[in-house]
Amino acid sequence: MVRLSGADAIAVAARVFQPHDPKIKLEGMRGYRGVLGKVCDADGPVDEVVAFIYRGPRSYTGEDVVELCCHGGSYAVRQVLRLCLDAGARPALAGEFTKCAFLNGKMDLTGAEAVMDLVSAQGRGAMRAAFAAREGALAGEIAALVEDLTGHCAHIAAWTDYPEEDLMPVDEAELAQSLENILNRMRVLLAGYDKGRLLREGINAAIVGRPNVGKSTLMNLLTGQERSIVTPEPGTTRDVIQEKITLADLTLNLSDTAGIREALDAAEQEGVLRSLRALESADLILAVFDGSQPLQENDRDLLPHLTDKNVIAVINKADLPSMIEEDKLRESLFCHVEFSAKTGKGREVLEKAILAALELENIDPAGAIIANERQRLCLNSAAENAEEARAALNDGITLDAVCVCLDSALEDLLTLTGQRAGEAIVDEVFTRFCVGK
Ligand code: GDP
Repeated sequence: MVRLSGADAIAVAARVFQPHDPKIKLEGMRGYRGVLGKVCDADGPVDEVVAFIYRGPRSYTGEDVVELCCHGGSYAVRQVLRLCLDAGARPALAGEFTKCAFLNGKMDLTGAEAVMDLVSAQGRGAMRAAFAAREGALAGEIAALVEDLTGHCAHIAAWTDYPEEDLMPVDEAELAQSLENILNRMRVLLAGYDKGRLLREGINAAIVGRPNVGKSTLMNLLTGQERSIVTPEPGTTRDVIQEKITLADLTLNLSDTAGIREALDAAEQEGVLRSLRALESADLILAVFDGSQPLQENDRDLLPHLTDKNVIAVINKADLPSMIEEDKLRESLFCHVEFSAKTGKGREVLEKAILAALELENIDPAGAIIANERQRLCLNSAAENAEEARAALNDGITLDAVCVCLDSALEDLLTLTGQRAGEAIVDEVFTRFCVGK
């Protein structure tokens, strides 16, 4: 599709596009209408195209918009684009359509950022979170905070600036309680950030374990393909193999690592080093043990690497008689799943354990979720300023000072939504977009 936006969009489109019905003129068409026709260059027709007209402000960008829907093939689309450029259009910059929508008040900055997240969503959870943000879930929550803070600022300012007026006095106990409530709402949003990141970017999960416990078989089972080499020989996986999978609406960036053990040669040693690195950066670790054998030294060596991490112990080979001393393992690893990578037994239990380990069972992707570092920094600063206001109030410092802190918190929130964001911030947001959005 070739999309044109701006005051001349319809005039430019009319120069390259002719409706099949000669009585129809693009310039005379109402918004939300489509018409079939052709795009021609000097040598004749280039493509048969449907032109859709949107009249500003009722369009994505808020300006007049024309969408020329071509047949597809990249040559035809490039030709149509070139003809539009020759007819007076200019190429859009990255994110320019959405920036235009933002500047024309069609959406706030969080909604614009959600467009980008929607485009790059890789799983259902990420898509739902982006869609909710696009529909204003976060913007609504921030607007409620802004309203409360504005109310307090206005009241304090009026009370301190016009003491002679017959105004309701500021009830400090009530104000303190309200500030606590505001702070709590901010904290809830901030606490959800990491979970939102897991939804959006996927969970970095590493499969670790000594050689031959069934890591590659597990990887192959979860990815549904023969990605890792499975052999009865220990030490066959020398490198970290990565694959994206979808599990319970989540995207898992799964890494099958080389068996962690005393390496026999340089290649295996490098493999073990990479495994340890994958383990360090993982959001979740699936630590695989062979349930059909007693714990071995290599199993025990792994345990110190797993402390203070999000670990699920996968006791594999549950199709064979159990020989592992589970009680010993339980001393150091909290969550256990009996599993058979060979038969798939225990898969559902594993899925549930993953959600529980990441505390994602109760997260509502349709709720208000902080979507990126920019938003998190703004909200964090707002919370710090609100905290300062509360401390000033507690310490009996003048209401003027409290008001200054609340004003700063307000400023932070308005930067988050873009209502008071400087040009540099806005530019920074949109340069991360791709062209055409
Ligand atoms: P890795 O070295 O940890 O990646 O282990 P592999 O996935 O290569 O498996 C080692 C051996 O154990 C292979 O012969 C697999 O067929 C076998 N194996 C893996 N999972 C299971 C299982 O759940 N049950 C049984 N019986 N054998 C398994």
